[in-house]
Amino acid sequence: MMSDYSADIAIIGAGISGLWLLQRLQRLGYRVVLLERSAIGAGQTGFAQGIIHGGTKFALTGELGEAATRIAAMPARWQAALQGEGQGDGEVDLRGVKLLSQDQLLWSTTTLTSRMAGFFASRLMRSRTTALKPEAYPPLFRHHDFRGELYRLNEMVLDIASLLAVLTAPYEDQILRLDAAALMTPLAAAAGWQIAQGDLPPLQVRQLILTAGEGNADLLHQLGQRQPQMQRRPLKMVVAQPRPDAALALPTIYAHCLGVATTPRLTISTHQDAKGRPLWYLGGQLAEEGVGRSDADQCRQAAQELATLLPWLASHQLRFAALSVNRAEVAMPGGGRPDDSYLHEDHAAALMTLWPTKLALLPVLGDRVVAALADLAKAENINNAAILARWPKAVVSPLPWQRPLIWYEGVI
Ligand SMILES: Cc1cc2nc3c(=O)[nH]c(=O)nc-3n(C[C@H](O)[C@H](O)[C@H](O)COP(=O)(O)OP(=O)(O)OC[C@H]3O[C@@H](n4cnc5c(N)ncnc54)[C@H](O)[C@@H]3O)c2cc1C
Repeated sequence: MMSDYSADIAIIGAGISGLWLLQRLQRLGYRVVLLERSAIGAGQTGFAQGIIHGGTKFALTGELGEAATRIAAMPARWQAALQGEGQGDGEVDLRGVKLLSQDQLLWSTTTLTSRMAGFFASRLMRSRTTALKPEAYPPLFRHHDFRGELYRLNEMVLDIASLLAVLTAPYEDQILRLDAAALMTPLAAAAGWQIAQGDLPPLQVRQLILTAGEGNADLLHQLGQRQPQMQRRPLKMVVAQPRPDAALALPTIYAHCLGVATTPRLTISTHQDAKGRPLWYLGGQLAEEGVGRSDADQCRQAAQELATLLPWLASHQLRFAALSVNRAEVAMPGGGRPDDSYLHEDHAAALMTLWPTKLALLPVLGDRVVAALADLAKAENINNAAILARWPKAVVSPLPWQRPLIWYEGVI
């Protein structure tokens, strides 16, 4: 007999969480659909720098507990996925994802502060960082005015556009477009959920997983759920690029400038705009403290930071644009940063909600979801091809810096 279900699981929100789980769960034999209201990667994922953290941030705050041990294992998990290992165990296959850099630079403007001395004393970081001798400095730092110290940090940086493309390609028919008027209602006897949209054939699933980032709060409200609570932590990132008439060739770097705070004073990663021209994406303390500034003031601040930290760079030839985005996470007492990914299970409602906190934590969050679904029966004889063919498909979003930006020039 044909099943009444059109899938075992519906995942709501096609950022890295939804895409990762779509592949992981599908490979374990579940039938899965992923529903996106805007475009694939349009949320926090598109704004990410692509750093696969292995614990640096924890070492900076001195929090080297259980969460740090978990995150320390993530680079190896991603490395395995990039090489297509673990296919037999249903692991995610990331072959084809572009590596922007195998490692990053850590640089201090002066000699080590006591915090950094502690940081480098930690075993976790000793295994990941190498002090560079001046002859090994990349060209940007080979300047007689550079007085600080430079370290190589063994944490890779991935190209988010290729990550989205690789995760989307095999499942294009299962990543559906959901509009704001779609209705999610529980099936009788807690047998799952129905998702209805206009006159499209409704979807019926046994399990709903919310991976909508900032959108989880509204979804939970719509579904009448009081838990879990979400927090937003806003950032104002900055894009810097040589003005079209400038002679400056922007060097490719992935670097964190360490200051006295636990967040790097400035983080720089290099990406390309829609025409393939390089740009610097600036975050760290600049982005955290910039949320109260106007875009113009934030661009001015970014220009001043570059002029202070890299005075030999012709930063007057750069133009700047501000990009505002909220990090969405499980609510923490006092609004602090969670140190782990978060999964909320409501078995009675056949509902899970999650926030990864860091894209890098998806492998371990994926494991937790798989374990939590152990009792979910896989429906037999689902033939949903006719239903899926009627639903509109979601497309991949351009990255924020591949869209037109409002540039501020001559800010210093
Ligand atoms: C500036 C910035 C830089 C970062 N850099 C890094 C980094 O270098 N390394 C790292 O590990 N982490 C980084 N992070 C954190 C990381 O980006 C996030 O933890 C991760 O991307 C969250 O992924 P997600 O899929 O859960 O949510 P999102 O990427 O936010 O995706 C949610 C999706 O759900 C969709 N959606 C929303 N509401 C609905 C709805 N009602 N119905 C259907 N769909 C909906 C959205 O359109 C979106 O596509 C960074 C975050 C920011 C903001």
